Amino acid sequence: MPATTYIDHEIWFLTGSQELYGEETLRQVADQSREVVEMLNASSDVPARIVWKPVLTSSDAIRRAMLEANSDDSVLGVIAWMHTFSPAKMWITGLDVLSKPLLHFHTQANVELPWATIDMDYMNLNQAAHGDREFGYIATRLGVPRTTVVGHASQPVVTRRIGTWIRAAAGRAATRDLRLVRFGDNMRNVAVTEGDKTEAELRFGVSVNTWAVNDLVEAVDAVSEAQVDTAVAEYEDVYEVAPELRRDGKRHDSLRYAARQEVAMQAFLDSLGAKAFTTNFEDLGALRQLPGIAVQRLMAKGYGFGAEGDWKTAILVRAAKVMGQGLPGGASLMEDYTYNLVPGQECILGAHMLEVCPSLTQSVPRVEIHPLGIGNREDPVRLVFDTDPGPGVVVSLADLRDRFRLTANVVDVVSPAQPLPNLPVARAVWRPRPDLTTAAEAWLTAGGAHHTVLTTALGIEAWEMFSEMSRTELLVIDESTTRRAFIDQIRWNEAYYRLARGL
Ligand code: MN
Repeated sequence: MPATTYIDHEIWFLTGSQELYGEETLRQVADQSREVVEMLNASSDVPARIVWKPVLTSSDAIRRAMLEANSDDSVLGVIAWMHTFSPAKMWITGLDVLSKPLLHFHTQANVELPWATIDMDYMNLNQAAHGDREFGYIATRLGVPRTTVVGHASQPVVTRRIGTWIRAAAGRAATRDLRLVRFGDNMRNVAVTEGDKTEAELRFGVSVNTWAVNDLVEAVDAVSEAQVDTAVAEYEDVYEVAPELRRDGKRHDSLRYAARQEVAMQAFLDSLGAKAFTTNFEDLGALRQLPGIAVQRLMAKGYGFGAEGDWKTAILVRAAKVMGQGLPGGASLMEDYTYNLVPGQECILGAHMLEVCPSLTQSVPRVEIHPLGIGNREDPVRLVFDTDPGPGVVVSLADLRDRFRLTANVVDVVSPAQPLPNLPVARAVWRPRPDLTTAAEAWLTAGGAHHTVLTTALGIEAWEMFSEMSRTELLVIDESTTRRAFIDQIRWNEAYYRLARGL
């Protein structure tokens, strides 16, 4: 039995048929759909338990199954398979009320067609090839968002895709009940970090609200010396702490204050049931440092974060944390900072003032203290490291006034060409696909933000599914992107999303 990542959650497996076939056939349908579920659950690709439900043969039973899935918080989504022919008018009222993610699994019990023995009994039992077409028709006619997966439950290409869909559904569930705390407002005059928080609650489910920074200051002051001792001991255990910040170092007090911030922020968020937050270096109240290591470590613990009041990116970081649970790699707030434009070696150096999540590396980060040119506070403590090389995705969320747009770029994180001894922040160097020129031109044309989530745990597929579940536009820049086709897609989407919204 593989490890279950989403241990408190399940997926319901709904099998469609009809009464016409008689009891014996329906018994076989039930047995074979149970076997399919067992095969899926046996795969280590599948991160939540898939629960088999009795075969559905009537409109009333289908509607009730969907209503129960909606109301059960442990259910991330439903998988539907039409083992035999299930006349799809029976699915209309059920699909109409379904509010959870839907995966249409187009499969069959056998891998190989039994050429020598096949007869009409076999044909009657194994007819998903047309039963699922009937289902696909009605789902399309009703405009039901869904992911369709084709193939046998024994095939890794199938279980991987179903596993990714479950991860996306977990991300969807995580944003549906996400509470996001903003310490202060947005950085003054910045456009792209603004957005419609009311629309975000409808679209993603996230509740975005602001607290005064001095509420956080009170929490920082309330942290005990014993709590600070515990946090500092952990820093010294897990990281390479700069000598001046160690217990006997002359700036140890700065480290203690940073630890105090971490303890306070986590307690503040937990007391509100919040899993994401923002800060703003322009609005620090009586905080002595811009929170650096505190924010970095909270991201590593799974909290979403956006800097400069950027609550939209905080949503993405939280979603990426949940979707990537248990996978190698990590996720962090990221910012496109500066380029290497040497022909043939083009790449992007991404970083932030301080706040990059150490889940992006397996190496041991260094704890350092350096001046921060902006913010008008004491020097902040931060973790410094290079992001591990490997494939990744950067994703931004922008508010285009009439809708949200996700823009994603598939990238390859690389090792820095040379050491960066004077750069006092954690960073990532990556090559965007298909190439820097095309990717940056596409990104700018899409109006993608300078803040993103960089995830090295997830591929683009999870974001495609997440955007479908959230009914949110996604523009993908990857190895197949061309300038002309991308610009055309943006134009078509302008029309599509306005029409799809209705009057
Ligand atoms: Mn920024």
